[in-house]
This record gives sequence, structure tokens and C-alpha cells, in this order.
Amino acid sequence: MLTGYDPNLTGVYSNTKFGAIPRGYTVFERLQQIFGKGIVTIMLTGKGPNLGSQSPDGGSAEPFYLTRPSLTVWDGDLIRPARIVGEHALRYLERYAGKERFFLFVHFPDVDVGGHYFGEDSGDYDRALTDCDAWLGKILDALEARGIADRTLVYVTADHGFDRGSKRHTSATHIFLGTNDPKVTLPGEQRDIAPTVLSGMGVDLTKITPRLPGKVLAK
Ligand SMILES: [Zn+2]
Repeated sequence: MLTGYDPNLTGVYSNTKFGAIPRGYTVFERLQQIFGKGIVTIMLTGKGPNLGSQSPDGGSAEPFYLTRPSLTVWDGDLIRPARIVGEHALRYLERYAGKERFFLFVHFPDVDVGGHYFGEDSGDYDRALTDCDAWLGKILDALEARGIADRTLVYVTADHGFDRGSKRHTSATHIFLGTNDPKVTLPGEQRDIAPTVLSGMGVDLTKITPRLPGKVLAK
């Protein structure tokens, strides 16, 4: 989702089999390559190792270990729900939005956690969905309140769903992409998210090496 590359290039194969993504490959770094100091990049997450930035002794480095130093703000490596992550997101918007060009990635862990503990068919799973939806609403309200909603691209997606009636997502690879960019209308795959976002932000994809395997989902 955040590189557009397949595992053979990123070194990230699964939740347990991963290494550091090579320097320069993430959406954050691609945007910095284009905009230089003209963009603020923020990665804000609610989970640890497989979305982390640490390099434990004797273990393999976490995916964002080499990305972290180039970010304006790294706010991750902690397990915490949307109500905490969401508060942090609002603070970053207050600090940066409307003043500078920014790319803010916000990760909510609640739905995954709810599914694993209580199952896809549980009330807890549904509540996690509505919690995340409510926090997304607060983020959109903050953009509105700052008068930048009409010039801020928003993309909402997930990395997987859940197997029906189970606590696993072994075969739930279908995801969605919601956005306020009216040009994005085509169906696609997860690998298409990075090129779609980069293209939306004004990056010329023909200049990116290695070539991104996905396509832009805009007409
Ligand atoms: Zn999971």
C-alpha cells in the first residue's frame, strides 16, 4: 500500500516475514524526492512490529526502519486505538494543514484487533468499524474547519478484510479504496494505491525507478 511494489522488491512478505523496505521506495520518500523541503510527511500508526521502525538486536529490521529518518514526523511503534491515533491526527492537522503541503498517513488498528479477538460477525467488530468511521469523520471535519477540504486529497483503504464468521483473514484479500478525488473511478488492486496517490499528488510516475507495477485508478 505504501510502496506499490511486490514483496520481492520491498522484502515485506507477511506479518511475520519482513525486513526493512529499501531506502527511497515509500510514498513518503517519493513525495520528498519531488517536493523536497516543500512537503511535510507524517506517518501515524496504531501498531508495532510489522508496521514498525525498530531494528531489534538479532532480529530483522522492521519495514519502516530505513524510511523513518527521512520523515518529518514518525509517530508509531505503539499499539493504540483510533481514539488515541485520531487525537494525534487532529493535532498534526492543527500544526501543519493549511500552512504547508503535507502527506499524513493515519492507521487505525481497531477493526483488525476486533476481528481477531471477537470475530467478524461480532458486535465488537462492528463497533470498531463505526469507531474508525467516526474518527475519519472528525478528520474530515478538521479539514473543513481549516478551509482546505476542497484542496486536500483523502484516500481511505484497508490491507485486508476478514473471513466471514471467523477470527482470521486467511483468504480475505479484497479491499476498497474510497477517495474524494472524482477522477478515481476504476477498479483495481492494492498495488494500484501507491501510483494512484502519487499521481493525485502530482508525481510523474514515468520518472520513478524501479517502475511501479500498478496502475493509476483515475480516468
Ligand atoms: Zn490481522
